[in-house]
Amino acid sequence: METHDSYSGKTHIETKVVHGCKGYDSNTGAISFPIYQSATFRHPGLNQSTGYDYSRLQNPTREELENTMAILENGKYGFAFSSGMAAISSVLKMFSPGQHIIVSDDLYGGTYRIFEEVYKNYGLEFSYVDTSDAEAIEREYRANTAAVFIETPTNPIMKVADIGRIAGIAKARNSVFIVDNTFLTPYCQRPLELGADIVVHSGTKYLGGHNDTLAGFVVLKDQEQAERLKLIQKSEGAVLSPFDSWLLLRGIKTLSVRLDKQQKNALELAGWLKGHKNVKKVYYAGLPEHAGYNISLKQATGFGAMISFEVASAELVEKVLGRIKVILFAESLGGVESLITYPMLQTHAAVPEEIRNRLGVNDRLLRLSVGIENVEDLIADLEQALEA
Ligand SMILES: *Cc1c(COP(=O)(O)O)cnc(C)c1O
Repeated sequence: METHDSYSGKTHIETKVVHGCKGYDSNTGAISFPIYQSATFRHPGLNQSTGYDYSRLQNPTREELENTMAILENGKYGFAFSSGMAAISSVLKMFSPGQHIIVSDDLYGGTYRIFEEVYKNYGLEFSYVDTSDAEAIEREYRANTAAVFIETPTNPIMKVADIGRIAGIAKARNSVFIVDNTFLTPYCQRPLELGADIVVHSGTKYLGGHNDTLAGFVVLKDQEQAERLKLIQKSEGAVLSPFDSWLLLRGIKTLSVRLDKQQKNALELAGWLKGHKNVKKVYYAGLPEHAGYNISLKQATGFGAMISFEVASAELVEKVLGRIKVILFAESLGGVESLITYPMLQTHAAVPEEIRNRLGVNDRLLRLSVGIENVEDLIADLEQALEA
């Protein structure tokens, strides 16, 4: 791919998020990459193409975004989809009936749902293990295991998996290692550098960053896998539109400053929550007592800005959700606005009660996506909401 003329091997990610792949439009010099709102492209003549034929196959704005994501994740090929679920669904279509995939037991509820309620019907098999325990993954391997799919930190319990170690296990057994990197983004964690084969994202979250656009990404390194995924993407057409691609390019420009602020706020909030009399447990990878703290230090440059916490009673949950004002009671995460969700009834409603209880996703658990507001205002809001 043709990249920005200033890039060298030493260019930092804070610079790359701002400048993207090509960065500007070489025809006009426009520094905001143009929105090519065209479904189709004129051919100069028979057997001639500008490189663009039809926007389901390729579109210049989407291509700039796809290449930007490939650069940020340090992969070779990027693919932009209309949502995170469309991206995950397309990756699953790279597998065949009868194959088995080992999956994190604590994960986004929609991912669990598409595995269990859609792809099981097409003959794929899934089993769920605690992927913060690499030996548990090894034990789960079967003759037909074709892939391992993890989130780290997991949603909502924030368990951290050792990406390098799992990559070794997956490679030794000739299976594909897929990491959902939505929570940390390539600004903090680059699984492909640690040995993963495929990275998926909900671009709706930190990458978009403003709670205004649905998007999904896949980034990978292997040419054969890229050709297969390209075939799936152009055949199905669950692609990101030119305008939404531009919104994502714009969102990504501020990824580093947003995440810096969000993580700073999150660390302060996690410490404050820990000391509150009505809070029983705090799950945040940035707390030194968290089981995944040391692995996080080793494989990531940040702890993210997602915190889950358990309050004293289910009654208090209802009060908190009714009283909260600065923090908004809404699903989703990763945007500039702080959001609070009730995983049991929202993001994880599709996960069976037995699994939820084992994980700790109970009727007292709340999940906080920390935004960029002043942290004192966030604390004051939680303070008044958490009064018994
Ligand atoms: C939101 C989310 C998804 C799904 O992405 P959509 O853009 O909502 O389709 C997948 N994985 C994780 C970790 C998520 O948070």
